[in-house]
Amino acid sequence: MITGIYPGSFDPVTLGHLDVIKRSAKMVDHLIIGVLNNSAKRPLFSAQERVDMLRAVSGELANVSVEMFDGLTVEFARSRNATIMFRGLRAVTDFEYEIQIAQTNHALMPEIDTVFLTTSVKYSYLSSSIVKEVASYGGDIIKFVPEEILPAVLEKFKTIRSV
Ligand code: ADP
Repeated sequence: MITGIYPGSFDPVTLGHLDVIKRSAKMVDHLIIGVLNNSAKRPLFSAQERVDMLRAVSGELANVSVEMFDGLTVEFARSRNATIMFRGLRAVTDFEYEIQIAQTNHALMPEIDTVFLTTSVKYSYLSSSIVKEVASYGGDIIKFVPEEILPAVLEKFKTIRSV
């Protein structure tokens, strides 16, 4: 039984993340999406909101579950007996940061290997930050996020604008 984790902030989940989720899920018996509950990153969506959105978009994938975690990602992986950590790579700019994290994680826990999935070209420009930027100016984000979460994202920005 091979368990993999796909950790991230997912603030909010994008079509790029969903693409990585679907592809990773095919490579392991069980994929756990780990939602980092790190207030230092000052996320727009609460950890519970991010978990709920990920559950809504991954509900049809039978071997995928979603959990919140804090602390070290490798500790979370260890506690779930995961041996693979998935990360996505969009551009060379991701590479330097990601390789440093992967090597640190490997030093902390040699039993876990990081597997990088290169982004599908059509999502290579997509990030949670881009989604928030466009949505904050009232732009159309339907091409960027799974449609299941569109109402939640629009509602969040409506609330922010009315404050
Ligand atoms: P973090 O805060 O840990 O970087 P993110 O939610 O921003 O979390 O991203 C989680 C993972 O998904 C990272 O490995 C990131 O590189 C990857 N990722 C983000 N957007 C895309 C995309 N459009 N295509 C492929 N991978 C992506």
